[in-house]
Amino acid sequence: MRGLVKTARGEGNLELQDLEEPRPKPNEVLIEVKAAGICGSDIHIKHDQSFYTPPVVLGHEYSGVVVEIGQDVQSVAVGDRIVSPATAYCGQCYHCKTGCVNRCTCPDKRILGVSLADGAFAKFMTVPEFIIHKVPESLSFEEAALAEPTACVVHSLAESTPITPGDVVVVQGPGTMGLLATQVAKTMGAGSVIVTGITSDRWRLDIAEMIGADLTIDVQKEEADEVVKSHSDGLGADVVIEASGAGPARSQALEFVKSTGHISLLGVQGKPTEINLDYMIEKELTMVGTWGTLPSSWVTTLRMMASGQIDVKPLITHKIPLIDWERGFELMESQKAIKVLFTNLA
Ligand SMILES: [Zn+2]
Ligand SMILES: [Zn+2]
Repeated sequence: MRGLVKTARGEGNLELQDLEEPRPKPNEVLIEVKAAGICGSDIHIKHDQSFYTPPVVLGHEYSGVVVEIGQDVQSVAVGDRIVSPATAYCGQCYHCKTGCVNRCTCPDKRILGVSLADGAFAKFMTVPEFIIHKVPESLSFEEAALAEPTACVVHSLAESTPITPGDVVVVQGPGTMGLLATQVAKTMGAGSVIVTGITSDRWRLDIAEMIGADLTIDVQKEEADEVVKSHSDGLGADVVIEASGAGPARSQALEFVKSTGHISLLGVQGKPTEINLDYMIEKELTMVGTWGTLPSSWVTTLRMMASGQIDVKPLITHKIPLIDWERGFELMESQKAIKVLFTNLA
């Protein structure tokens, strides 16, 4: 089979290679990958800007079908349609034992498509049984491939952000995370969701309106702070979700939010941001950051996707074969796509 391999540390070093088909260990299943999305973190690995252990087949946002099970596997059968988080947490460390498996600190923890475990940009991959979730019948493989980023957003919003019915919520950044956050905030009862972006985001802001945003703001053309105030009785937003990872947006979050409001940080910038934390004191704010997912995030995510409360279809802007991976990465890096899926991994 072919797989897209990060061959060594450094810039680039991505190659479509002929690989041996993997074999499942006793507690693993062999998956035929049906759809796999390119994530921002795959781009970071391409440019050597994040943690990974080469050589490794990239790809951690995926769906697939079980084609073989290891001898000890009991809860999954051949033919099951499945998804999973990337991280095979250890279950033994302090964080795992206190329920924060997304914080697992085990040094030899395996992360599919990142470290010590090959990922989904290949026809087959092996996945440990204990991290698997079955895909509801009503979801296609393509939709299910977006369960991973959706679960990250569900962990940030549904599990960690105090949105109450009627709230004015600002979502900064109309990328995959922001567009998912818009839908989750609505489902949690937000009275109105305002999505902000820059001028080159116009087409994404249009998608935001299509999937439920009540208002969109081009922060480069409009007095965004004033617009948010005018849509919140002059008070500011009850909750701001920072989903862009851009420094100026982080500063602006502190202005958009009302006194005693809340900010959730979802976007990673990868470098320090200078912001005025006096706002935290003067406005009595709360701020939370979240990372990855818990098993519960996946249960909630798959239910919300199956019920139609979250519709990921408008986010899938490109479906291409793995053999065209260079074009896929180019589409993501030039921000011409929201989500690029590899749907033919042969
Ligand atoms: Zn991802
Ligand atoms: Zn652990």
